[in-house]
Amino acid sequence: MPVASRRAALVPAAGFGVRLGDVASAAARQPKAFRTLAGTSLVHRCAEVLLELCDEVVVAVPGTYLDLAREDLGGLGPNVRLVVGGADRQESVARALAVADADAEVILVHDAARPLVPHDVVRRVLDALDAGAPAVVPALHVADSLRHLRADGGSAPVDRSLVRAIQTPQGFRRTLLERAHAAGLGAGVTDDASLVERLGVPVTLVEGDPLAFKITRPLDLLLAEAVLAAQR
Ligand code: C5P
Repeated sequence: MPVASRRAALVPAAGFGVRLGDVASAAARQPKAFRTLAGTSLVHRCAEVLLELCDEVVVAVPGTYLDLAREDLGGLGPNVRLVVGGADRQESVARALAVADADAEVILVHDAARPLVPHDVVRRVLDALDAGAPAVVPALHVADSLRHLRADGGSAPVDRSLVRAIQTPQGFRRTLLERAHAAGLGAGVTDDASLVERLGVPVTLVEGDPLAFKITRPLDLLLAEAVLAAQR
């Protein structure tokens, strides 16, 4: 009988989330990942759901917040480990990848800013990897009409049926993700799937979920609180 691949999830959680609040306030200087929703931090919620399907979770946090992170995540047990994050998301992911369980052949990368991601989205990403896809991302249809900005200052409509909004967790064969991070092709890239694609590897889309929305602005926190209240 084949032995299932071991899976590690990496959570870049070292951003300060300056778009989330008044930059002058103390709260805005706290890393976004440690803001709470109904008493539980964003990163704690992410680690919990990822642990349901992964053997370990490696969280990248700001060096100055290691103690807070230990306090916040310690209760989840030894399969949640911490690493100091880098100057940007890509570096934080690379640092987490470097310390992930050497036996993990499958790697998920999940933004701490998406704390309400449903278990089923994680499942779909893993299923596509198990079926042989080298790189997998959850994708959503876009509800708004879209326009492409031209260099001359004008704009042109985009056929929204041909675009998708991309979420996390994104899943990869470990060797591919390592190669992508080592290639030094990351300029202007905002996610790991784009990095992998620069190696010429195709990315498989699976269905995302509106609940996996990214908490970026104060309104997103309010929405997430409302979702949790409705679920209670
Ligand atoms: O800033 P943005 O919302 O795009 O960040 C996406 C994710 O990357 C967040 O979870 C954030 O904590 C993380 N990040 C990181 N290290 C950085 C910057 C952002 O882990 N230096």
